[in-house]
Amino acid sequence: MAAPASIIPTEPIGSIPRPVDLIERVARSNGEDPGLDPFYELAIRETIELFEATGSPVVTDGEQRKYHNFATYAVYGLPNTAPDGFTIPFSDGHTRRMSRLTRGPFHYRRYADSFLDVAMRYAHAPVKQAVISPSCLSLMYPSEAIPDYSREQFIQDLLNEHETEIRRCLKKGAHKVQVDFTEGRLAVKIDPSGHLLNSFIDLNNLALSRFSPEERTRIGVHTCPGSDLDSTHSADVDYSELLPSLFELKVGNFYIALAGERDRPHVLKIIRKYRKPDQRVFIGVTAPVDPRIETPEEVRDRVLEACNYIPVEHLGTTDDCGFSPFSDDTSTSRETAFAKIRARVLGTALAAKNIGGES
Ligand SMILES: [Zn+2]
Repeated sequence: MAAPASIIPTEPIGSIPRPVDLIERVARSNGEDPGLDPFYELAIRETIELFEATGSPVVTDGEQRKYHNFATYAVYGLPNTAPDGFTIPFSDGHTRRMSRLTRGPFHYRRYADSFLDVAMRYAHAPVKQAVISPSCLSLMYPSEAIPDYSREQFIQDLLNEHETEIRRCLKKGAHKVQVDFTEGRLAVKIDPSGHLLNSFIDLNNLALSRFSPEERTRIGVHTCPGSDLDSTHSADVDYSELLPSLFELKVGNFYIALAGERDRPHVLKIIRKYRKPDQRVFIGVTAPVDPRIETPEEVRDRVLEACNYIPVEHLGTTDDCGFSPFSDDTSTSRETAFAKIRARVLGTALAAKNIGGES
């Protein structure tokens, strides 16, 4: 008898390409014009409808309203920031910049549960919410200390804001809260000694330590080599440099990009070696940076391959990344994104059926 598909959970990462009409309207304003509200609302409603039509058992709002990107939504528009912050270099030569803190104190301008409020009005399926990691936002503090606002004070304020954001999302019923940690793999590229990565791990663990083991079963961490304009920022960093440290994070779920890796068994062996017994690993089975739509059978085979390394009760599937972490990225169409998600859902169910049939 076939096992139910739910023996292998499947979840998205977060972002879905915005409708072109919305992208054009946001480009003509600063993204915060109240006149944009009905267009954001329409995009969220339509995104959730299309998401649910794929059969995805967990959905998101597609991050339609995360302003310009996944990393700076919480601080976008703060008066004590400047646009010339940390630069993220991508392999095709383009860059993205974060904002820089110009004075203290540091506070979020908005928490991600405000997006969850809207999504849950429209969704019938459980809704997941992604939030940005403290390590990413720590890059906002400049290399030269801010007068009267030390880096230590900043870190305390940052940890408090991040904890508040996660608690608000959990309280409102997020299926999972996913901490986006794309800068983990990038950290190894910037600093091959591993020092920067380990400082990020330590910082994020200071935040995760504030949650109970029960709460941590609903919290996850996403790692990927970046995804913007069909380009990555750290795909050349071998996972053996990242994953041993990553699994030190005090969290119950990991969302690990894998579909785009050249040597998946190599990565799966590292996961098998370093995954803690209570940690579930959602492996990426579709690649948003690859325009080709995976077939359900390919996804099935990737899941079955992973079963050789990860016990099925600790396995899940996901996409390698969001489909447009930066809001103006039109390199992937909405149709392609949902077709890939459909393949993920169908392929995961096929694998579950296969596993059930063999046991
Ligand atoms: Zn990602």
